Amino acid sequence: MTTTPLNTKQVQVIARYEIKRNSHVVYLVRSSNGKDEYHTTLVNGRATGCSCPATKPCYHMRQLEQREAERSKARATEQANKVRTQAAAHEARLAEIEAWRRADEAAKDAQRHELAPLNGNRPFSILKI
Ligand SMILES: [Zn+2]
Repeated sequence: MTTTPLNTKQVQVIARYEIKRNSHVVYLVRSSNGKDEYHTTLVNGRATGCSCPATKPCYHMRQLEQREAERSKARATEQANKVRTQAAAHEARLAEIEAWRRADEAAKDAQRHELAPLNGNRPFSILKI
């Protein structure tokens, strides 16, 4: 087994909790020895503490801050895509309604033509030669 250098240690996340009330985030992480578990706390995307014994900011704090930033970015992109999709659907629906309206108008027009008297509404008279 090779020893991972300190600066490339990868945080092993066990769980992520989000406290809805204040949107603080707590990560439950596994220690590098694989035995202990620590809590890393983030407030507004900034790591504020970790229960591990390492000097602060520890690698948990640094990596989880990074991870949260990526998560927020992914969420923002997802949200933007959702809005774009909704706008496109709305646009399509409007086009559909407009097509219906036109078809309806065309049908009414055709009906009007059929009902229109051929003599231009003049009173009936027998043509005299
Ligand atoms: Zn730590």
